[in-house]
Amino acid sequence: LIEDEEDDEADLVKRPPIVTVMGHVDHGKTSLLDYIRKTNVIAGEAGGITQHIGAYSVEMPDGQHITFLDTPGHEAFTAMRARGAKITDVAIIVIAADDNVMPQTKEAIAHAQAAGVPIVFAINKIDKPNANPDKIKEQLANMNLLVEDWGGKIQSQEISAKTGQGVNELLEKVLLEAELLDLKANPNRRATGTVIEASLDKGRGYVSTVLVQNGTLKVGDIVLAGQYAGKVRALLDERGKNIKSAGPSMPAAMLGLDGAPAAGDKFVVMTDEKEAKQLASKRQQLQRELSARAHRKITLEEIGRRLALGDFKELNIILKCDVDGSVEALSDALSKLSTEKIQVRILHKGVGQITESDVLLAAASDAIVIGFNVRPSANARKIAERDQVEIRHYSIIYDAIDDVKAAMEGMLAPETKETIIANVEVRETFKISKVGTIAGCMVLDGTIKRGCKVRVIRDGVVVYTGELASLKRFKDDVKEVSKGYECGLSIKNFNDIKVGDIIEAYEETLVKQKI
Ligand code: GDP
Repeated sequence: LIEDEEDDEADLVKRPPIVTVMGHVDHGKTSLLDYIRKTNVIAGEAGGITQHIGAYSVEMPDGQHITFLDTPGHEAFTAMRARGAKITDVAIIVIAADDNVMPQTKEAIAHAQAAGVPIVFAINKIDKPNANPDKIKEQLANMNLLVEDWGGKIQSQEISAKTGQGVNELLEKVLLEAELLDLKANPNRRATGTVIEASLDKGRGYVSTVLVQNGTLKVGDIVLAGQYAGKVRALLDERGKNIKSAGPSMPAAMLGLDGAPAAGDKFVVMTDEKEAKQLASKRQQLQRELSARAHRKITLEEIGRRLALGDFKELNIILKCDVDGSVEALSDALSKLSTEKIQVRILHKGVGQITESDVLLAAASDAIVIGFNVRPSANARKIAERDQVEIRHYSIIYDAIDDVKAAMEGMLAPETKETIIANVEVRETFKISKVGTIAGCMVLDGTIKRGCKVRVIRDGVVVYTGELASLKRFKDDVKEVSKGYECGLSIKNFNDIKVGDIIEAYEETLVKQKI
């Protein structure tokens, strides 16, 4: 019903590229986005006030369009990617010509590369007397990033976001890059796409900016977006002007949903409003259970297990070290562990503290973070906890190499494969003296079985792992309880069960896993 129908090759037409601007702080991302928006937004009434809706479209003199995501920075880019949203076609990485290739520049490059998104460098602030674009190109060359006038393949353009010099040429280069990608979509079908941002507006209700990725979104369409649904009451462009429809790669602020979906949520157009609403409420119901499941922590052990099972072919690492020498030594040694079957990829490496950006990149790429004599910032630590990213600390190079090698050989992996058999929600708890805490539960899905293994998940975080001690229906011990039925249970050596906890029941089976 909401499956993506395949498009016939004959129905596909060229669509505009969608661009994200990234780079080091103060190098001019916002200025560039503002300049492009002010000067190139499809000629509207003079002085029309543009609003920030999260994305905008510009028209080039030859009639071609480019869509810009209006939240600059690789954090936003990677946060979307972590939610499974792939919306950027081309990344512009801004580097100030009066500065250097900076840590965040390197991060932005790593984030774009990890996503497989082509890069166009915008060497900015060339209006400044101390601007030195050649120095920037040389620094890029030293990182194995050769721009075209250095004999390489990566496009770069010297610009001033202040005077506008070179900006049109930059956009031409973006279009050239897009040409190579052969971006196509079918405008004549029900729309699908991604939510860019959403909020509650006092006068207008929920306003969601969506980016159409295929098809055409129209006023009157029935939309299911994440956990919300509704009939499109109005579509607005970035100038707040009413539009009737939005085709492929076009952004629009949409009115009419019954809630605010999350940035990165997919949206689809459906035919039956009742059905859309039912699906939305079903999704809301399942949300807690799903988030609990999605947050299975990616650890080196977990990666090892998935490699052994053939679920993964790559072992992705973010590497942060105290000094340059250890970055080089460790990244060389780790990369060399790659085999024909398993590739060790260093997605990003650098000197210094483990940052928020490192953790976000790891979360979006199923990677672990290895810190060699460095520790995470307080914020990075928080995000690692929230996004279930493993940060491993080492102070001896060989220990790090041994662990990665062991994971690749399946030695770090447990010898079992687990299958989740049920999710159960705790609705009531009773303290019974000498017995402990009994939880009155509802089985949300699957079948929970006597003596099975369980994890207690609170707000998406596993707070306890253990085994069922008892399973009852009313007063009777039972072997199993299935979806839709209530049960009473207790967990061995764990009495801290709380209402709202999700109990994930699982079974383990032995697998052969030596690679
Ligand atoms: P962001 O942090 O990357 O978004 O950087 P901003 O766009 O906020 O720019 C940082 C500072 O650099 C601001 O004071 C801008 O006015 C200035 N700036 C940005 N681009 C240029 C430029 O091309 N030339 C000059 N002279 N200043 C610029």
